[in-house]
Amino acid sequence: MIQDITEKLDNSYVPDAVPSVNDTLFCFRGMDVLASDDMNCPFPTIGKVECSDQPIYLFSIGSRRFFLTLDDDAQAPDKYRYVSVRALRRHPDALKKELYALFTAFHLYKWYSSGRFCGSCGAPTAPDSNERALRCTKCSAIEYPRIAPAVIVGVTNGDKLLVTRYAKGRGVGFDALVAGFSEIGETLEQTAEREVMEEVGLHVKNLRYYKSQPWGLSGTMLAGFYCDVDGDDTITLDETELSSAIWTKREDIVGQPDDMSLTSEMMKIFRDGKD
Ligand SMILES: [Zn+2]
Repeated sequence: MIQDITEKLDNSYVPDAVPSVNDTLFCFRGMDVLASDDMNCPFPTIGKVECSDQPIYLFSIGSRRFFLTLDDDAQAPDKYRYVSVRALRRHPDALKKELYALFTAFHLYKWYSSGRFCGSCGAPTAPDSNERALRCTKCSAIEYPRIAPAVIVGVTNGDKLLVTRYAKGRGVGFDALVAGFSEIGETLEQTAEREVMEEVGLHVKNLRYYKSQPWGLSGTMLAGFYCDVDGDDTITLDETELSSAIWTKREDIVGQPDDMSLTSEMMKIFRDGKD
């Protein structure tokens, strides 16, 4: 999965980190990021970029430190250009470490850029001095990074797994599993049961937690569960969410074209008979 890298991503908050020319800098413009074609090291160092603000320290991986500029007009040498974050995910040579850093930085970018003004009184915010948070300069309201919990559900039926395809949007062309965001007041287990009922009309039992995955592209914390269909296995498809949902035998499971996602790992684990 995307987070399975050799060195740990250390996101301890270091408010007084001083940027240096050799630190990596993320420059976003909407859904695009400044990058080169060199997939070993696609993102520029601070020394290569002209930006109008003081870069914000994000995290480190090993000895490498990563910063963020909120200047969406940051400029870099010719070999760098703004490219789609989603397109980089599908780049055949993309390194997991670079993508994990990119997705995590993107999540933080969305939070920093949407939190420049206080949601309570509208005054400007400023980074807190003790923890990763934005504090209102007028009313002191504090805003922490937002992470949306969601579930991925592998519904099993004997030797078969329920494999879906989305009806619209991203990932339409790839196999997937039932998935959805938690509602306020709901446990992750209840989210899993509700999403399965809403998307395919099935009751489930024996819910088994598998693993979690931070997915910065959508600001999400994913929790993966396997479960068994309970009773009638007739699928009633929610066609606004899914284009298909098929009971698929282990040997017919394909997974997704890369090994970045929890969804793909869960499909392949079941295919290989490990659940
Ligand atoms: Zn305020």
